[in-house]
Amino acid sequence: PHSATEAEAFLAAHPEVDAIQLLFTDLNGIQRGKTVRRHELAPIYAQGRYLPCTIFGLDLLGHDVDAAGLAWENGDADKLCLPVPGTLVPMPWAPVPSAQALISLYELDGTPVAGDPRHALVRAVERLQALGYTPVVAAELEFYLLDAESVRAGRPRPYNGEAGGTDNTRVYELAPLDELAPLLAELHAAADAQGIPSETTISEFAPGQFEITLHHRADALRAVDEAVMWKRLVRGVAAKHGLVATFMAKPFGGTSGSGLHIHTSLNDAAGHNVFAAEDPAGTPLLRHAVGGMMATMAEAMAVFAPNANSYRRFRANSYAPVAASWGINNRTVSLRVPVGPAPSRHVEHRVAGADANLYLAFAAVLTAIHQGLTERLDPGAPLVGNGYAQGGAPLPIHWPDALERAERSGFLREALGEGLRALFCATKRQEWEKFNATVSDVDYQWYLRTA
Ligand code: GLU
Ligand code: MG
Ligand code: MG
Repeated sequence: PHSATEAEAFLAAHPEVDAIQLLFTDLNGIQRGKTVRRHELAPIYAQGRYLPCTIFGLDLLGHDVDAAGLAWENGDADKLCLPVPGTLVPMPWAPVPSAQALISLYELDGTPVAGDPRHALVRAVERLQALGYTPVVAAELEFYLLDAESVRAGRPRPYNGEAGGTDNTRVYELAPLDELAPLLAELHAAADAQGIPSETTISEFAPGQFEITLHHRADALRAVDEAVMWKRLVRGVAAKHGLVATFMAKPFGGTSGSGLHIHTSLNDAAGHNVFAAEDPAGTPLLRHAVGGMMATMAEAMAVFAPNANSYRRFRANSYAPVAASWGINNRTVSLRVPVGPAPSRHVEHRVAGADANLYLAFAAVLTAIHQGLTERLDPGAPLVGNGYAQGGAPLPIHWPDALERAERSGFLREALGEGLRALFCATKRQEWEKFNATVSDVDYQWYLRTA
């Protein structure tokens, strides 16, 4: 089923390109891969390339042999990596003519490798399709631009305009967009070159924080692949402008975190949105979907918030949710049904941080929707008013609690597959233990002189 046609056509159209990056997303959401040269590309498209499989299970630092050992039962056997069709695109921000393609991992017999997060999303989409529905999704990612010099010095500070240091930008303020117009134009041009449907840009709540939305797609895999490419593109273009882009969930304790909002609706076989209704409380199917997302949210928390820093984002009155709740036109709940014309009716899932692995987060949301539909779950009445003041089923907003939920979650077994769930939990448990064993600067500042 593999063919070199895409590679051959691309190379013919881009005679200047010699270096092509093949990249995938590991369990932590970190992008990894290798650079191959022009003459290697067509054979890789035709036959694949071999890669060791432990790379998916390594810890955040990526060089921890103990963490790698989690995936060693099979002797760290090589797997077959194959490019994802349609993802071979130029990298306009690269200093030399370059291209990139996403890859996915397969066993030597062609079956998907359990540890590759992209396959979890493939299965989640297939499960909904088996019910007769095509998910329509969009990713909304927030990020910070940081002053590169401050990052090099180990004291990251947000980019805060040419004047610098005034720390007074406001959400939706236009001055930062004016100042960054050349960078934004380059982001959008690069997105166009890669076929990524970038849309609206806003300056977010914090100085240096931005959000650029991507248009929804009725091809969930494509939409999530694009979000993966988008993160790389934003980092690359920012770097070219002397800035560091970060999708860390809470880079600064005192200002807003960066979320990944997951927008979903379902089309039936005729391409009709089954959530569409004038009343935003919507159709029974919308309510079942919301019921599924609410019922499984706590179990999936470790996926939405995958590391120690992720949990700093969940604070009252922060626009990041702290309870499983839903509401119409309400940003203080975890599931918002935006107002708008009936045909575009959809649900915005607001729990994940921008640091989540995109494939796993979307797989968890789509599997939750599947569960809500098959079990005809009822979310109850939508919350009205301030969600932070009204409780609701609390989410595990501390990492060890979320990990415990994930470790005994039947839902994640379904959403990720048991092999991936076990590897994810073991990797994260090890990371938590190391994080917990690390003595921080604050320990010394506060406790060195106590007692
Ligand atoms: N920054 C918020 C978060 O951490 C979201 C703000 C918004 O609603 O755009 O999720
Ligand atoms: Mg936002
Ligand atoms: Mg949003």
